[in-house]
Amino acid sequence: MLPRSSKLWIGGEWLPAATEQTFEVCDPATGAPIAECANADGRDATAALDAAADAAAAWSQVPARARAEILRRVYDEIVARADEFAAVITAEAGKPLSESRSEVAYGAEFFRWFSEEAPRIAGRYGPNPEGTGEVIVSHRPVGPCYLVTPWNFPLAMAARKIAPALAAGCTMVVKPADLTPLTTVLLCSVLANAGVPAGVVNVVTTTNPAAVSDALMSDPRLRKVSFTGSTPVGRQLIAQSAQHVLRTSMELGGNAPFLVFEDADLDAAVEGAMIAKFRNVGQACTAANRFFVHSSLAERFTTQVVAAVEALKVGAGTVPGVSIGPLISDRAVENTEKLLADARTRGARIRAGGSPVEGPGSFFAPTVVDNVPVDSELMRNEIFGPVLAISTFDTEDEAVAAANSTEYGLVAYAYTRDIKRAHRLINRLETGMLGINTGVVSNAAAPFGGLKNSGLGREGGVEGIAEYLSSTYTLVSR
Ligand code: NAD
Repeated sequence: MLPRSSKLWIGGEWLPAATEQTFEVCDPATGAPIAECANADGRDATAALDAAADAAAAWSQVPARARAEILRRVYDEIVARADEFAAVITAEAGKPLSESRSEVAYGAEFFRWFSEEAPRIAGRYGPNPEGTGEVIVSHRPVGPCYLVTPWNFPLAMAARKIAPALAAGCTMVVKPADLTPLTTVLLCSVLANAGVPAGVVNVVTTTNPAAVSDALMSDPRLRKVSFTGSTPVGRQLIAQSAQHVLRTSMELGGNAPFLVFEDADLDAAVEGAMIAKFRNVGQACTAANRFFVHSSLAERFTTQVVAAVEALKVGAGTVPGVSIGPLISDRAVENTEKLLADARTRGARIRAGGSPVEGPGSFFAPTVVDNVPVDSELMRNEIFGPVLAISTFDTEDEAVAAANSTEYGLVAYAYTRDIKRAHRLINRLETGMLGINTGVVSNAAAPFGGLKNSGLGREGGVEGIAEYLSSTYTLVSR
């Protein structure tokens, strides 16, 4: 059952938007509307920040152990209601139910992980080098936060921000993507059941994110913005954050290289490629975007991925056995077509798929294309669609140069059985995350984030909570 959603969650109450307007949320597998959400503007954003600011002092004083227990209850309830969450994710984001269940498990894990981190927020104490005093370093919550999430992993991306913010003692205004707001709306009830006090988490849904951002980011009570989404929007928010010198965390776009060296286990590389490319129909910031395969293996690799792709079943996420759901919108289908057309005019060859699948819904056939020039749009842009684009290399130097030749640096994948090469790659690849002989790196216990234009800051791991803490250094004179 879809959550009640035509209201905003502000100060522990469901309130209508000031505009009294709503917007439709549609199922990407059919294009049909499935729910209505309240359409917030700047007035609602300010009301949500009022609630977050009012709740901030009391929440920051709740003992870490008590915050941890609340987070643990959130984890338990999400796990208990996993089927319900998975159904809502599939309804609004389109992904196959099996993938939605994996997302629920991954998203819930952030609440468990940060329930364990909350009591471990530690400081530092020691003599200064001159021996004339003691240095004390203590941590406090940064204060009210603005958390903005994308549509592609509606639970996990929200959990990755809300859980560490709660663990650190921060209050917040959460703005989910307008394409997939229902999962966050459902999460509100879980947070309330677990004992998160009124006003600590506030959720505003809107089709006008700029109005919400303008109201919040020009308000000096806001102290932090954490954003997951595209690099152009991230840049705008970084610029806006200058006005009140906000702390910022930016999880932005990627253009992941996937390297297959001549000493790779080919079957494992094909298996990893299928996961890294086709999870969520390629709509992941971690999706492998550019496959660089050693020329001695390229044809065998291509033949094997073509066979694997031809076995994939395309359809609505609710249909058993489907592994390729719809893209999020018709615009995404058009974008995929445009990128492929450019590659073809530059000499790329379609080896499987290559075109949209007739609707209703926004479907595109899983596609393999080889002989892709590195300067094609397909290799330079985030594809965000089910296209596996292959190019070749002959030496490690060539592979590393090709992998690094992008403005992004979120994640890279490499298949090799040479342990020395694997260690060299850690230093040589310009990336925030690296998967060696694996096609998935996401993990609540590890710091997720990128270099270069892929972002600032880290989510998850012991690093994740630090994004929501400020330090105070005290010198006590002897
Ligand atoms: P997007 O930038 O269009 O939207 C992301 C969010 O920003 C949405 O909630 C949207 O409503 C909001 N937004 C748009 N304009 C805004 C503004 N002026 N102020 C505040 N919010 C605004 O991105 P998307 O299409 O939803 O998601 C895809 C992008 O997200 C891809 O580039 C992908 O790589 C990236 N992404 C990155 C990560 C990561 O962890 N690095 C994870 C998932 C997605």
